[in-house]
Parts: sequence; C-alpha cells; structure tokens
Amino acid sequence: MARYTSPSCKLCRREGEKLFLKGDRCYTDKCAISRRAYSPGQHGQQRKKLSEYGIQLREKQKARRFYGVLERQFRKYFEMATRMKGVTGENLLKILESRMDNVVYRLGLASSRAEARQLVRHNHFLVNGKRVNIPSYLLKPGDIIIVSEKSRNSEKFKDIAEKARGRIIPKWLEFDPDNFTGKVVSLPTREEIDLPVQEHLIVELYSK
Ligand code: SF4
Repeated sequence: MARYTSPSCKLCRREGEKLFLKGDRCYTDKCAISRRAYSPGQHGQQRKKLSEYGIQLREKQKARRFYGVLERQFRKYFEMATRMKGVTGENLLKILESRMDNVVYRLGLASSRAEARQLVRHNHFLVNGKRVNIPSYLLKPGDIIIVSEKSRNSEKFKDIAEKARGRIIPKWLEFDPDNFTGKVVSLPTREEIDLPVQEHLIVELYSK
C-alpha cells in the first residue's frame, strides 16, 4: 500500500495550519507550526499571492493530508460523492470521516490517524464480528467496531481504553471502554466535522 513517508510537520507548515498528524506532540510547544509558522524551503518566508486555482488546490491538499489519503483514492471518493444524494462537498467529507482509520482515531483509540491506520493493519479490530484490517474500509451507521479479544488483554490496549475513557468523542459515534466497543450511530453532519476546509473549493477544482 502506497503511503506518504516524508516528515508530517512539513505538510502542516505547507498548509499553514495544524493538521494534527503526530498525535500528542501536536498539542505541545514542540509543534513545528508554533515554532516556524511559514512554509518549508528556501522561499518559505516569502509572501505569495495565490491564483484561484492555487487556492482550490491548497484546500484539496489540506483535506487529503488531514485524512492521510493519496490523490488517486481521494479522487475516487470525490466521484463517489458526486453519485450520492445531497451536497457533493459534504458527501466527500462524510466518506472521509467514515474510513475505518478515522473512526478508530475519533473513538480515541489512537492519538493520530497514522497510528490508527497502523493499529487497523495489525489486525486489532473486528467490524460486526469480522476481522477488518483495511484502513480505508468504509463504515456505515449501525456498524459495531470492537477490539479483538487477544488485543484487549494487552497492556497497550488497556492503557488506550483507560485514556479513551475521559475523551469527548463526536456525537455520531459511541464508545464503551469497558467492552472495548464502538458504534457508528450515524454519519456526521458538516457541523460535526472539524476539518478547516472550504469543501466547495475542492468541488470546483475537480469540476474543471
Ligand atoms: Fe502538524 Fe502536529 Fe507537526 Fe504540529 S506537531 S506541525 S500539528 S504534525
């Protein structure tokens, strides 16, 4: 599976805002955005005026990087979103939110989407009783995600569940830390998605 392997903080600096790609570090003063809030590279500190295309491109890249999705997959999601009822931009965000790695992260079982992706790939979860190790697996309302019997006895998961206990999770999800069980109650509304992008610009970009 192809994935982005260069430094995560560079991506945030390129987009000019925190994308929370590194878990707990993002909430400390070690965050690169707090220390060097300008684009990486030799000309990073120069002010640039973006064209209309440039603005749309940056919004798309920001969303893609926030969820850790490569271009081809992102485009596929956009095409799926256009075939759904409702507003295409919002549909796109709903699809991205329903990815298995994102849901594991939102449930508080991982400190970043990258960590969530790794946990999923390492076979730690079942969905509706069946093992799922595909981070891009799309969950639907009513799906139950549970930590496998073997994994929940590990110190790592006991610690994860303890930390998850106090976390506030989005209203569209439920989590029972005693039984290591999460549920997708519904798909999120736009207001429940904390992604700082203007999704209509992504739609405009792909509609050219
Ligand atoms: Fe982004 Fe987190 Fe790095 Fe800060 S620490 S620049 S939020 S990845």
